[in-house]
Amino acid sequence: MLCAFLSQPSLGASSSLDTQAARVERVESRIRRINAGEFDQFEIHGFKRFSAPDKAKLTQWVKVGVNATRDTLGVYPSRLIFHLVPKKSNQPVPWAYTRRDNPQRIYLHVDSRFQQDKFINDWTIYHEISHLAIPYLGSRYAWLAEGFASFMQYQVMAKAGILAGTTEQNYTKKIAPHLKWFNSDLPPASIARRLMSNKQYPAAYWGSAYFFILADNILQEQHNTRLTTLISQYQFCCNEPHASAEQLMSDLDGLLGASVFTPLLESFESSPARQLYPEDFTKQDNLTRK
Ligand SMILES: [Zn+2]
Repeated sequence: MLCAFLSQPSLGASSSLDTQAARVERVESRIRRINAGEFDQFEIHGFKRFSAPDKAKLTQWVKVGVNATRDTLGVYPSRLIFHLVPKKSNQPVPWAYTRRDNPQRIYLHVDSRFQQDKFINDWTIYHEISHLAIPYLGSRYAWLAEGFASFMQYQVMAKAGILAGTTEQNYTKKIAPHLKWFNSDLPPASIARRLMSNKQYPAAYWGSAYFFILADNILQEQHNTRLTTLISQYQFCCNEPHASAEQLMSDLDGLLGASVFTPLLESFESSPARQLYPEDFTKQDNLTRK
């Protein structure tokens, strides 16, 4: 199963001058629009190619996906728009991607012969909706965006009670096979970019998810909060369709009132990966930092 993160030509850099007053006004405007019910709905397109029972089944699945993701990552600052495409496969959702143009859209290729519980237990929809909780970061940071969505898919599923095992068990299982790539003097960002360009997507995605595991560990241990909490606040104040990775890090640090994300990204850009990643997970109780 694959997830592609389709880009669109990058737009001009948005204004970096974001005053406190402008941010407060944006939050208040979003509260007004949420209270007006503007974001309480989602749209599904593409039903013409499905039967009536399949339409009901798929609608229920998308509804579960939207509600579960919102429950963990907060209300999205735009209506969620889905496109369903029939695709015969050996799994319910063989292919999916987001398009970050205006409006943003989520495309899900589905094999409607599968039962509803197979759809609900599949990670893809939670991964795709998670992508939209942060801006499109550009192709240079596609690895970071994929790491984010890969990390979040299990947070969403765990909170919704549909993840088999703990989040730590699931992360360990996914990341462990790819640690070998990060046993290197090169920085993780350049390793992840190379893995992406070599189409080694699971290694790139799960290697990059470790960025968010480290961030979440710091938030829990030093700031008494969680990444999911911070992201739901971020959605309210700051989530825009496009932003630079540096802006995202700086906005998260601003919300937190501490410098965590900017220095973490800097170390992923410049420190040897072997200083940030463990050689393996077997010597550790859990996924806490090296
Ligand atoms: Zn993705």
